[in-house]
Amino acid sequence: MYDVIIIGGGPAGLTASIYTSRAKLKTLILEKMIPGGQVTTTHLVENYPGFPEPINGFLLMSHFQKQAQNFGAEIVISKEVTSIEKEDKIFKIKTPDNEYKAKAVLIATGAKYKTLGIPGEEKFKGRGVSYCATCDGAFFKDKEVAVIGGGNSALEEALFLTKFVKKVYLIHRRFQFRADKILQDRVKENEKIEPILNYVPVSVNGKDEVESITIEERDTKERKEIKVDGVFFFIGLSPNSEFLKDFVKKDENGYIIVNENLETNVEGCFAAGDVIKKKVRQIATAVGDGATAGVNIREYLENL
Ligand code: NAP
Repeated sequence: MYDVIIIGGGPAGLTASIYTSRAKLKTLILEKMIPGGQVTTTHLVENYPGFPEPINGFLLMSHFQKQAQNFGAEIVISKEVTSIEKEDKIFKIKTPDNEYKAKAVLIATGAKYKTLGIPGEEKFKGRGVSYCATCDGAFFKDKEVAVIGGGNSALEEALFLTKFVKKVYLIHRRFQFRADKILQDRVKENEKIEPILNYVPVSVNGKDEVESITIEERDTKERKEIKVDGVFFFIGLSPNSEFLKDFVKKDENGYIIVNENLETNVEGCFAAGDVIKKKVRQIATAVGDGATAGVNIREYLENL
């Protein structure tokens, strides 16, 4: 029996575990893959306070993990939670091969990159289609690639890819980028990036590997084919909350609804980080959520 089980070992979950384990609560983190969450696939993080020089995402998260473990948090990796039940104030957290019990639970399962669902996207996954420039960028040395999206991820990853590739076509569905101004300025200054605006991808084409992408102008409907060896999709996030089914209240997009104490509608069940309904999704805001949840879980358990 644990005092608290935290589902997800990204910035929110690891921060909460630092607070709960430091408060001497028996804390277990169940992590689907490896600790660190999405940040581990980010080459350089430059807006997380405390690091005046950009820090590698994987390294940053290994510091979070070490700090949590120093206070006694237990971490089980490669453990995907399939459901949660509550009976007599005790939570039962199920994985394919086990059942864990806890007095409180924190859902910090984050979000994943969305897929577009156009022809060729699924077929060429791992053969030219990617959702992670840090993981796959080096395979495209001196090649030409397309990046889809106009948010912070798309622009950051397009800039990162220019370290390897000859050219990046940055394809965005509007004339204005959504990304931070500092990234827009860097893209403008980078000769390897050619923005293609007001176009949407229609299909990814090739025989065994990606050979081209077809795009369509949104107003004129004119289509053109661009020869590329890779296509990187960064069209936003969707929450990792399907496994919960109706256990907690969610909004129409699947984000968990919480109050200012990060409590869900189920007593003793908290949620934090990218999986909750909120406006700003940053490492710093996930960390803030984790701290808030950690403190409120401690109070909840004291009053139980
Ligand atoms: P995002 O901010 O939601 O941007 C998604 C982009 O994809 C938008 O430009 C959107 O176009 C476009 N898009 C969405 N659906 C599309 C479709 N069906 N077809 C074509 N284009 C489509 O997602 P994100 O860039 O992955 O970022 C997610 C969150 O993480 C954000 O809160 C972001 O600020 C944060 N983040 C922060 C940093 C940083 O601070 N360094 C880095 C990465 C991510 P529209 O603009 O027209 O909607």
